[in-house]
Amino acid sequence: MNAPNRIGPDLSLIRDEVRAMSAYHVPSADGMVKLDAMENPFPLPPALARQLGERLAAVALNRYPPADPAAFKRRLAQAVSLPAGMALMLGNGSDELIHLVIQGCAKPGASVLSPWPSFVMYDMSARFDGCGFVGVPLTADFALDRAAMLAAITEHRPAVIFIAWPNNPTGNLFDRATVEAIIDAAPGLVVLDEAYLPFAQDTWLPQLAARPNLLVLRTLSKLGLAGIRLGYLCGDPAWIGEFDKLRPPYNVNVLTLATADLLLDHLDVLDAQAAQLRAERARVLAALRGLTGVTAFDTAANFILLRVSDPDRVFAHLKQQGILIKNVSRMHPLLAGCLRSTVGAPSENDAFVAALTAALTSS
Ligand code: PMP
Repeated sequence: MNAPNRIGPDLSLIRDEVRAMSAYHVPSADGMVKLDAMENPFPLPPALARQLGERLAAVALNRYPPADPAAFKRRLAQAVSLPAGMALMLGNGSDELIHLVIQGCAKPGASVLSPWPSFVMYDMSARFDGCGFVGVPLTADFALDRAAMLAAITEHRPAVIFIAWPNNPTGNLFDRATVEAIIDAAPGLVVLDEAYLPFAQDTWLPQLAARPNLLVLRTLSKLGLAGIRLGYLCGDPAWIGEFDKLRPPYNVNVLTLATADLLLDHLDVLDAQAAQLRAERARVLAALRGLTGVTAFDTAANFILLRVSDPDRVFAHLKQQGILIKNVSRMHPLLAGCLRSTVGAPSENDAFVAALTAALTSS
């Protein structure tokens, strides 16, 4: 039988802004020292991993998750000291929550604003929902440009402003008073994204009750649970109630819920790992600052932004030595020459510093 004449898919059906996008790129890291994605390098202690295995074996995989895991959310709220009267909702990673906030506010002509460079998903998620995206350049030393931020807010009246606290990929915390001025000036919501809380130990959560247009976004990813995909969004129950309508039912699966539920009883383990990573961060930063030809910027996160004269060559050299970091040098003009490296386990950090040293001396 002759195959019918097949005409290729007519992609004009797809929205122009989607066709113009590139997919979020995740490079392969097989067999490499993985310092590109801000993961916690430490596994769970074996006894806890065994306990988790038993807990997961008892989960009813044949059942849907609870549509609203209220008991788990209450435990989480207590564990993170959610202020009285505030609410939280869960997301399949904080990525999903970024998307839901924008989706909820994406009226025709709405825009999303963020200091820039920052986390790429703010821009991508805005475009997913047909919103304009306004990236307001940081200053050359990666601080908020207060005048430019306030002017852009006046000009664009953004529905949502995202501020990463600390910022990715620069790693720094912004000036708190400037963020307060932005919250005061914002005509819409301001989301403080605290993905790196375990390393910054600095939060806006207690401000929620006093600032009705503030939301605080968090994730368990950087604490050591990136694989289970669990984020949470905190704010006034009225806001959370609206965004919760957009949440796909069952967006957080039963294995994730069971894992997080057990880990809430063992946060001390993850906190100790974060403390070790903070100590490693200081050690790596000191080592990098001892190298000629590297500028290593201050960081409150579990990664370090560094500038070298030839980032492509240094990145390629590290990769060839089996060490994967992120080349952000073409992300934005302010990041010219920059590479971003996650703080890993001590042996990984030693390998990184040694390979970087070799790369700098081999030019
Ligand atoms: N916010 C910021 C600032 C991030 O850097 C990241 C991850 N790189 C996320 C949110 C997303 O985290 P997740 O979806 O794993 O919760």
